[in-house]
Amino acid sequence: MKSELDYKRDIITVGKMLYDKGYIAATDGNISIRISANRIITTASGVSKGFLKDEHIVVVDGDGGILSGRRKPSSELKMHLAAYKLRPEIKAIVHAHPPTCTAFTIAGVSLAKCVLPEVVMTLGVIPTADYATPTTQEVPESIKEYITRYDAVILDRHGAITVSKKDVFDAYYKLEKIEHTAEITLKARQLGNIKTLSDKQVARLVSVSGISEERLCSSRCVNCGGCGKSARRAAETRGEMTGNISMIKELVREEVLRELVNCKN
Ligand SMILES: [Zn+2]
Repeated sequence: MKSELDYKRDIITVGKMLYDKGYIAATDGNISIRISANRIITTASGVSKGFLKDEHIVVVDGDGGILSGRRKPSSELKMHLAAYKLRPEIKAIVHAHPPTCTAFTIAGVSLAKCVLPEVVMTLGVIPTADYATPTTQEVPESIKEYITRYDAVILDRHGAITVSKKDVFDAYYKLEKIEHTAEITLKARQLGNIKTLSDKQVARLVSVSGISEERLCSSRCVNCGGCGKSARRAAETRGEMTGNISMIKELVREEVLRELVNCKN
């Protein structure tokens, strides 16, 4: 069985991985592990996560009360605590500011599309939570709707959060997957149109992987082959308008950008 010190070392390792990959700058990001029902270890505020030492890890309870450690936990711990409360099975959480997926939110381009089969099979689509003022209660509020259904959520203008029921490395890999998807999508957009997977291809991925169809259906899901259909179905179930304005805006915006790219070529 792992000791608390072992878990601290895992956080230190993941902090270095985030820093080395360029997913965080300066003192950005935060990492946590729930080591027992009411005991969470997490990174302190105001330190580079690329150069963590044991004393930069704080132990808190489920409400954020400090159990041990001299430093203050990150102000973004609120977001971790909300996720732990909503998902009792979660063991670890990583939050960082990977540049490409963050840039997608600034450009207003969604990554909630069925594009890469391995992503569909593991994460489903990758939703983006609404903009929230960093460090405030708005941040945990903004993720609630998504974190109950998804393990990887992009935060508007504020990086991404990933959770794992396995360990902190698994949470890190999910973050890496988000950024990798964003990088591939960016390159594809530079080359031309984005070809989403068809309904049939998505249905086959769902049956092969056993991923819940719910993960492919979100109100934020843009209108691609598989998930667009699911999103429409979900909207109908909720009795909402299917052709909602934000989806139309997104489609128009994508079409205009596509034309601009084609013009440049
Ligand atoms: Zn942050």
